[in-house]
Order: sequence, then C-alpha cells, then structure tokens
Amino acid sequence: MISLDGKRAIVTGGGAGIGRATAQVLAELGARVVIADIDTDGGERTAKDTGGTFVRCDVSRREDCEAVVHTAQKRFGGVDVLFNNAGIIRRSTVCEITEDDWDLVMAVNIRSVMLMSRLVIPGMAARGGGSIVNTGSGWGIRGGGRAVSYCASKGAVVNMTRAMAIDHGPDNIRVNCVCPGDTATGMLAEEARQLGESSDAFYADAADRPLGRIGQPRDIAQTVAFLASDASAFLSGAVIPVDGAGTA
Ligand code: NAD
Repeated sequence: MISLDGKRAIVTGGGAGIGRATAQVLAELGARVVIADIDTDGGERTAKDTGGTFVRCDVSRREDCEAVVHTAQKRFGGVDVLFNNAGIIRRSTVCEITEDDWDLVMAVNIRSVMLMSRLVIPGMAARGGGSIVNTGSGWGIRGGGRAVSYCASKGAVVNMTRAMAIDHGPDNIRVNCVCPGDTATGMLAEEARQLGESSDAFYADAADRPLGRIGQPRDIAQTVAFLASDASAFLSGAVIPVDGAGTA
C-alpha cells in the first residue's frame, strides 16, 4: 500500500539496529538511501544490502553532516526524507554522570537533529516539501531510572519535533517523532553491559508489556516508512510510541 518510489532518503545511524532495518524497508519500498554512520563496517554493510550509499559521519559534527547532505544532493539531486536516528545512551544518575558523557549524549542525540535538519530543510522547501522523522524514545515521554542524560535528550527531541513541525509546516515539511520502546538492538545489549546485568535477563524484563514481546527493528522501520510516505500527508507534529503499548 505504501510506495516510496522516487523518494530520496537519509538515514543516520543506518549501520545497525533500527537505522539499518529502516534503510532496508525504505529501499524495499523504492527509496534511494544514503546511510550515515560513525561505524564504517556497519554502514558499508547496510549500503551493500540496500543498494544505498554510505557516508562515514559523526552526526554531532557539522562538517560530517554537510558531507552526508552533499552526497545525497550530488547522487540523487535532493533529499525528500530525513530519518534522524543515530543515538547513544549512558546509564547513570545525575550524580554519577560525567560532564563529558553529558555533553556527548546531548551532542549525538539532540544537536545532531538540529545540524542535519537545517541542512535539508531549505532544499525540501524549494522542492515543495518533505518528511523528517526524529527518533525519540519512551523515555522522551516518561522518565526512566539511571538514564538522566538520555531521558533529557529524548524529551528534547520530542518537543523539538513539535517546534519544527510548526515552523516548517507552511513549506509542506512534515516533522514527526517515533518513540520506540525496548527494541532488540545493540543498544539494549550495551545498556545491560553498562548496568552489569546479563543480556538475557535484561531482554526478559524488557518484554514485560501488553503485547508481550520486545520490539524488533522492523517494527520501528515500518512506522518510519509510513511517516516518510505520502500516505501520511496530513500527519505532522506527532509523537508516536512504537512500543507494544508500553507507555499506555
Ligand atoms: P544501535 O546502537 O543498534 O544503533 C545505533 C547506530 O548509531 C549505530 O550504527 C552507531 O554506530 C550509530 N551511531 C552512534 N553514534 C553515532 C554518531 N555520533 N554519529 C553517527 N552514527 C552514530 O541502536 P538502536 O537501538 O538502533 O538506536 C537507534 C535509535 O533508537 C537511537 O536514537 C536510540 O536512542 C533509539 N531508541 C532505541 C531503543 C532500543 O531499545 N533499542 C529504544 C528507544 C529509542
């Protein structure tokens, strides 16, 4: 039902997890995709599997973001869809977190959304519109224990989404936010490691939600594909939990 034929997309953090699955789904639906990631091996693997183009990029650095958008413009002539997905987590309280870790989480999770978005918005506006999808989290809607910088950054992504939707709606640029619940990716294993817990126990806890299972990367990817497509033409400024009713 959904086609992305002719759409040109950028997926940040496309080298693994949710970003990788999204690059795959977007490509399956007809989009051409630029994959941006700090991890060269993962990014190149996704590019190979999707027929996309990989650009090594630290999303917290303006020059790197410029290189990504420049590549998309050169290869495809523009950008219709931006998926701001790259993100990291540090499991610590406000008393435990180092200032460096605080700044890193903010730079990767929220500064990146500012940097990437303002590089694509003028071109989208000039071509009659576009779709930006930001990645929040259930912890951008409610709080979570020992994840204070992550919760702060994702809360910022959620409300930045609304502000951007208001500012750029008149240019037919839609801005929405997906908020995954616990999803089976490397990030979850990394959280278990940071908390000194076994991955298996951590995953079992994460599955404790009304739909009775943990999220899979494709669960999120298919929602992003809908938001990227013209099927969601009147949907903007929305914050959408994709979490098996976890936040409900
Ligand atoms: P992941 O760790 O599997 O993948 C993240 C990707 O981002 C990796 O390929 C990594 O190399 C890349 N990345 C990290 N720092 C980067 C940087 N500075 N520049 C460019 N790329 C960078 O994680 P994931 O679970 O797929 O997470 C994707 C997004 O979903 C994140 O924003 C995360 O906060 C969010 N999220 C995940 C979960 C979950 O349970 N997995 C839940 C809620 C929200």
